[in-house]
Amino acid sequence: MLFALFWLLFVGLLLCAFLFSKTTKEFPKSWFEWKTEFRYQYLGIVGLIHDAHYAARDRVALYKQPDRIAVITGGNRGIGLRIVEKLLACDMTVVMGVRDPTSAEAAVGAIVDLKESKGKLICEQLDVGDLKSVQAFAQRIKERYTKVDLLLNNAGIMFAPFKLTADGYESHFATNYLGHFLLSHLLLPRLKAAGKPGKNARIVNVSSCVNLIGRINYKDINGNQQYYPGTAYSQSKLAQILYTRHLQTLLDAEKSHVQVNVVHPGIVDTDLFEHSATTSVPMFKKLFFKTPERGSRTVVFAAIDPSIEGQGGTYLSNGGKGPFHPDARKPEKCEKFFKFSCELLKIKQYGNGEY
Ligand code: NAP
Repeated sequence: MLFALFWLLFVGLLLCAFLFSKTTKEFPKSWFEWKTEFRYQYLGIVGLIHDAHYAARDRVALYKQPDRIAVITGGNRGIGLRIVEKLLACDMTVVMGVRDPTSAEAAVGAIVDLKESKGKLICEQLDVGDLKSVQAFAQRIKERYTKVDLLLNNAGIMFAPFKLTADGYESHFATNYLGHFLLSHLLLPRLKAAGKPGKNARIVNVSSCVNLIGRINYKDINGNQQYYPGTAYSQSKLAQILYTRHLQTLLDAEKSHVQVNVVHPGIVDTDLFEHSATTSVPMFKKLFFKTPERGSRTVVFAAIDPSIEGQGGTYLSNGGKGPFHPDARKPEKCEKFFKFSCELLKIKQYGNGEY
């Protein structure tokens, strides 16, 4: 009797854990959706253990770099806001590409004394899911600055319902990946102008541990035939890694002083989870997820830490190397996807800044 009660309690607990950590508020409808949910749950548990295990390693030392210019997408909330705070503490000029520049400046002003700060903040309009907006944003940066030292591709969405952008791309693919792929292409000449021997300019792509379950669906990149938000998100996060790895190969071949790294920031308590079932258990997130401040550490580490100078193409998690998708270890797979992206955007020579 006691044994049966124990099992009932155990199964009940497992069921509750499943219900409150689903990627969507709806119930999975097919085996494909169930499978995706189980894989997310597994990665979520492993991710939380990794974050707890490596908490002591998850550090970044800030130092003054007043002559450096950093460009970040997003930054008005969540992890990005804490990245901006740290870059300003390094006395950098920080250009934020955001959808609402006025409220973004107010958000930063609420945590940083902008009058006293030696760092300089500039907020520019950008919808990274809209290719025309990316082009206009890059143009304004190019007109204002002859060099860009850091580009942090941070903005992102997760588990959103199916939606096509004005350019006809699925919203995760467009926002998390394609807009940033274009932005990096447009700003590369300015990054190359900033990099020097021993002091590379850096691109940091904020990906996620769920790249491990990602798959690039070349035949149906928008997921028109079978859309599930979790699948769209993991595809976009794998895309960032494949592109990072091939871009570094290109940069190495031309001996350029630019490095590109990719980061999993940890599992962080932010509004990114707005579409997931975890919104019903805010206490769980508060207890077990990283704070946005902790979530920003490895991203800033990838951007400024001298110990990884010259180590482009690395996937970082909790202040060190982390496990990533086996496809990203295969140069031909990275190149195939990179070329596919160039074809989508009709880019003939990646990195020449022309579009
Ligand atoms: P968040 O709090 O929801 O912030 C998302 C940021 O992206 C906001 O600044 C948002 O600006 C911006 N953004 C979204 N769509 C945009 C668009 N079309 N144009 C311009 N900006 C846009 O999420 P977060 O947790 O800080 O996420 C930051 C990055 O970390 C994302 O790339 C995410 O995938 C990655 N990440 C997060 C976690 C986590 O556990 N939180 C884990 C792994 C990876 P608006 O205010 O205008 O929407």
